[in-house]
Amino acid sequence: MPAPYTARCTCGAVTATIDAEPVTTRQCWCRQCQQIAAGGPTNNAMFPADAIDIVGERAESSYTAASGNTLTHEFCPRCGTHVLGRSSARPQFRTIRLGFLDEGHGLSPAIAIWTEEAPEWAVIDPAMEQRPQQPPPASPPPE
Ligand SMILES: [Zn+2]
Ligand SMILES: [Zn+2]
Repeated sequence: MPAPYTARCTCGAVTATIDAEPVTTRQCWCRQCQQIAAGGPTNNAMFPADAIDIVGERAESSYTAASGNTLTHEFCPRCGTHVLGRSSARPQFRTIRLGFLDEGHGLSPAIAIWTEEAPEWAVIDPAMEQRPQQPPPASPPPE
């Protein structure tokens, strides 16, 4: 499905419209993602921040990543649905959780990152490019 993408948390308190195509799509197996994703990876699409229109209050929590960057997770304070992540290293982007997007978005992760932290039972699609740790720098958005 081409842009605009729409999104909604489980309870409907947070909604979004995203009028851009993602810069990249990724699956992340880092420890912090496993904690918010019930033991599995998060699946994400990175969009330009200025293309995202979010309505509804979010709660957030931040931590310092191994890279030294501050990573912040935003989620619905009512139902707990994870909305997005953002990094101090890339303030121009937001990493939208694929589960937040409405059905029919058609996006799937192209790269699996932090695979060295994945549990032994993890099954990672061999069709995906895999990175043991840090993702490659996001390519610049089209002008
Ligand atoms: Zn909610
Ligand atoms: Zn992660």
